[in-house]
Amino acid sequence: MIPERASKLLQEFGIEVDREALDYEDWWERKGKFISESIDRMGTVQLRMFDRWGNRIDELLYPPEYWDMLFKGYRAGVIARTFEEESLKPFYILGYITSFYDPGVYCPYTVTISTAVPLYKYGSQELKEKYLPPLIARDGEIWQGATWMTEAKGGSDLGNTVETIAEPAGNGLWILNGEKYFASNVGAEVAVVAARIKGEPLGVRSLALFLLPKYRRDGSLNYHVRRIKPKIGTRSVPTGEVELKDAEAYMLGKREWGIYLILESLNISRVANSIGSVALAHRAWVEAYTFARKRFAFGKYIYEQPLLNRQFQDMGREIREAFALAWESVEALNEVYLEKPRYSSRYHTFRLLAHMAKYWTAEVSVKAAKWAMEVHGGMGVLEEYPAERLLREAMILPIWEGTAHRQVLDGIEAIVKKDAHIGVFERLRQYDGAEEIRRIGEEMKAMDELEREREADILFESLVKATLKVLRQKYMPVPL
Ligand SMILES: Cc1cc2nc3c(=O)[nH]c(=O)nc-3n(C[C@H](O)[C@H](O)[C@H](O)COP(=O)(O)OP(=O)(O)OC[C@H]3O[C@@H](n4cnc5c(N)ncnc54)[C@H](O)[C@@H]3O)c2cc1C
Repeated sequence: MIPERASKLLQEFGIEVDREALDYEDWWERKGKFISESIDRMGTVQLRMFDRWGNRIDELLYPPEYWDMLFKGYRAGVIARTFEEESLKPFYILGYITSFYDPGVYCPYTVTISTAVPLYKYGSQELKEKYLPPLIARDGEIWQGATWMTEAKGGSDLGNTVETIAEPAGNGLWILNGEKYFASNVGAEVAVVAARIKGEPLGVRSLALFLLPKYRRDGSLNYHVRRIKPKIGTRSVPTGEVELKDAEAYMLGKREWGIYLILESLNISRVANSIGSVALAHRAWVEAYTFARKRFAFGKYIYEQPLLNRQFQDMGREIREAFALAWESVEALNEVYLEKPRYSSRYHTFRLLAHMAKYWTAEVSVKAAKWAMEVHGGMGVLEEYPAERLLREAMILPIWEGTAHRQVLDGIEAIVKKDAHIGVFERLRQYDGAEEIRRIGEEMKAMDELEREREADILFESLVKATLKVLRQKYMPVPL
């Protein structure tokens, strides 16, 4: 059995879910889930580009309830608590609860924290004073962030596909020209944006991370939304195409740190993707269970049919294991998220755990959502019931924040170049089977480079499975 509430699973793992988080969950149960359902049915949100007098405004036409739902999380401290408590854990705890009900809404929170943390770490005093307080606020004016890296020519190989050009304009100001093809949480008051320094060659070294406000210093729009993208799921986060024409921006961190800062921002969202993936899988399990306990076939409720009953147990175990891996990546990130280049070996250990978690949890999420649809039989395919939406929502999880291929290849790179498997082994060495993590890592290192790349997914999966075996002991989830 898996608990029917998100908070209960967290508690099973010994994670403290305080009153404020429980109240937030109650709100979702009473109200939020109904708003979420109607936003999903609404389809793609409309964009009003001009006001009646012909001025460019780029306004999103969500109903007022959407904004209530969205700002509920900010008011519950999903961003603020990280800064109040100097820990990312509340962000991931509230994120698990949010994603159990609506993984799309967790995206705005994720990109907001992935904007706020780099600003906090790398912004000048002046930038921080101006932009940080509303980004981390619970009350009054609350701003949102966004992380815009991907362009039309591709998102995986940023070194060769970012064509947005940044030119210095004096006094710390930069001017950006280009387009961002997948811009989630479009409409945000501040974004972090990847751009290439003017005159520098292709490659990751010429990229830098910039803070881009929604409005210019003269009050005009600093970026334009060309359109909102219709998509199958996560409709509670608007994804648009953004045009930057002489946009004003500020470089974050040292010039030579650019690509590292881009990856730091991605690290936070990859871990959020892992947490959101498990929450979605958990929800899919609960929906399947709710259905199967009352659906009758061949003389029994289908939940009691031996085959399906075993599948419920297996899927429940997979979800718990996936949560253990996701939470291990939260713990590891929390230890290093304030580090700056040059990073410690602990940072590279975290990177490997994050790649494993992002890869594996997204696969589990899609698998659980597909299985929940099958458990519902024909009802699963109908738009009026929850299983259909869960599968639509799950499909994005292996892709954004870096595809499965990227997680596998980058994870292996962390092993080959930084011996990150040794760090994971050291972290878990008191448990049976930890030695296997080291062995697989060494085997990868010893392989011919081409052979290793061709087999990367198979090799990486064996590493993930060895790690799950060990994490099962560490977190001792309650037996099904
Ligand atoms: C709904 C949605 C919202 C998004 N929001 C944002 C956002 O807010 N900000 C942002 O920056 N991006 C965003 N993205 C973009 C997302 O991060 C990219 O789609 C993703 O990183 C993959 O990039 P791509 O689509 O260009 O695929 P490509 O990079 O073109 O890759 C195509 C395929 O090739 C594979 N591939 C690439 N290189 C290799 C290799 N060496 N070996 C094997 N396979 C390889 C990839 O894994 C993938 O399967 C969003 C995407 C979606 C769908």
